[in-house]
Amino acid sequence: MPKGKAEPVFERLAIIGVGLIGSSIARAARARGAVRSIVATARSASTRKRVAELKLADQVVETNAEAVKDADCVIVCVPVGACGAIAAEIGPSLKKGAIVSDVGSVKGAIVRDMAPHIPKHAQLIPAHPVAGTEHSGPDAGFAELFENRWCILTPPEGAELKAVARLKAFWEALGANVEAMDAAHHDLVLAITSHLPHLIAYNIVGTAADLETGTRSEVIKFSAGGFRDFTRIAASDPTMWRDVFLNNQEAVLEMLGRFNEDLAGLARAIRNSDGQTLFDLFTRTRTIRRSIIEIGQETAEADFGRRHGSAEPEVPLPRPYASD
Ligand code: NAP
Repeated sequence: MPKGKAEPVFERLAIIGVGLIGSSIARAARARGAVRSIVATARSASTRKRVAELKLADQVVETNAEAVKDADCVIVCVPVGACGAIAAEIGPSLKKGAIVSDVGSVKGAIVRDMAPHIPKHAQLIPAHPVAGTEHSGPDAGFAELFENRWCILTPPEGAELKAVARLKAFWEALGANVEAMDAAHHDLVLAITSHLPHLIAYNIVGTAADLETGTRSEVIKFSAGGFRDFTRIAASDPTMWRDVFLNNQEAVLEMLGRFNEDLAGLARAIRNSDGQTLFDLFTRTRTIRRSIIEIGQETAEADFGRRHGSAEPEVPLPRPYASD
C-alpha cells in the first residue's frame, strides 16, 4: 500500500533516460512527494515527446547537460553500456553537492565507467532497484514498482555518508527497502539471482525456437507446462540484457560454471535412474520457494499481482550474501 506523502528528499531530481525504470521513478517520486520538481530528458525526440504528453516531469529538456545543471540529484536510467558516455557529458554541468546515481543492473562497470567523469564537488552513489518487468519505455512504468522491493546502493570508498543517507531516504520514500554493499559483491549476488536466470530463459526459449516448425507450434500450444514463465523473462529488453552480460562477465561465467556442474549431476541422476537424488533436490528447492513467499517477496499466485509481472526475479538477497 502506498505510504503517505513525505517531505521532499530532493529539491530537483533530474532523470536521464525515461524508460520503464526512469518513468517509474518519476511516477513514484511524484506520488510520494519525494522531490519538489522533476526535470527529464531522453536520447530520442519521440521519447521526450511522450514523456511530456504523459506529464511525467515538470520540465522536459533536450540535452543531458541542461537536465543536470540545477539538480541536486541526478539518476541515469539507461542501459549499463551507455552510462559512461552520459557521465562524461554531464560532469562539467553538475551543481556543487549534487548526487549522481544510476539504476543499472551491474555495479562494478558503473563505477569504472562513470566515476572518472564525476567532479570532486559531486557524489557518485550507484544504485540498483531490484524490481522490474519485461516491458520497456515511458508507458511501461508505474508508481508502485519499487514497493517492498530491494534497492541496493553501492557507495564507492570515500563516499560522503550524508549523501548515501539522502539517497537511501529517497528510495525508502519510493517504498523500497534499502541495503548497501560493495559493487563486486552486488555483481556476484545478482549474477546468480538475476543474470543467470535470464541467461537460462534466453537459452531455453532460443533452443525451442530453433526446433523445426511442427514441434515449435506444439511448444507454443503446450507452453503452460513451465515454458511460458521462461518466455516472459526472455521477452526482456535485448539492449539492457546484452549490456548486463558484457559488463558482468566474470561473475556470470563463475556462476554458469557452477550451474553446468550441477546440471551434469542431474543428467547423471536421470541416466542412472537415481530418483532419490532428484527427489531430494526438488524437495530442497520447494522449501526455498516457500520461504520467499513467507518473507513477503512473492505470493503463491503466478504473477504476484503486479501490473505486468516481473522480469527481474523477485528473489530477495540470500541472507549469507546480504551485508549489514
Ligand atoms: P528502457 O525501458 O528500455 O529505457 C531505456 C532508456 O534509455 C530510454 O529512455 C532510452 O532512450 C535510453 N537509452 C537507450 N540506449 C541509450 C544510449 N545508448 N544512450 C542514451 N540513452 C539510451 O530500459 P529500462 O528497463 O528502464 O532499463 C534502464 C536501466 O535500468 C538499465 O541499466 C537496466 O539495467 C536497469 N534496470 C532494469 C530493470 C528492468 O527490469 N527492466 C530492473 C532494474 C534495473 P530512447 O527511449 O530515447 O531510446
